[in-house]
Amino acid sequence: MEKRSHTWKYFSVCETDESKAQCSICKTIISHGGSNTKSYSTSALNNHLKNKHPDEYESITAVMRALLIAYYMCVLVNSFVSKLFEFEPYSDEY
Ligand SMILES: [Zn+2]
Repeated sequence: MEKRSHTWKYFSVCETDESKAQCSICKTIISHGGSNTKSYSTSALNNHLKNKHPDEYESITAVMRALLIAYYMCVLVNSFVSKLFEFEPYSDEY
């Protein structure tokens, strides 16, 4: 997961220490792994939401599930449409 994950809806990066994030619900400061933006991880934040704010966690996973389903629908429609246009009208049969 990268920084723009839905998890960040409930957290903001600590201004004095970028390796820490603050929960916007209970104001707890959580260390989320790396010391720079490239090694950010949302797993610690996800765990916090899961344990302390199950309702919010559920709303995030619901969004992710919906996005995943939408993605697979797109893949399915794409492969269906490309099959429709697979015939070759200019073959050298005659
Ligand atoms: Zn919290």
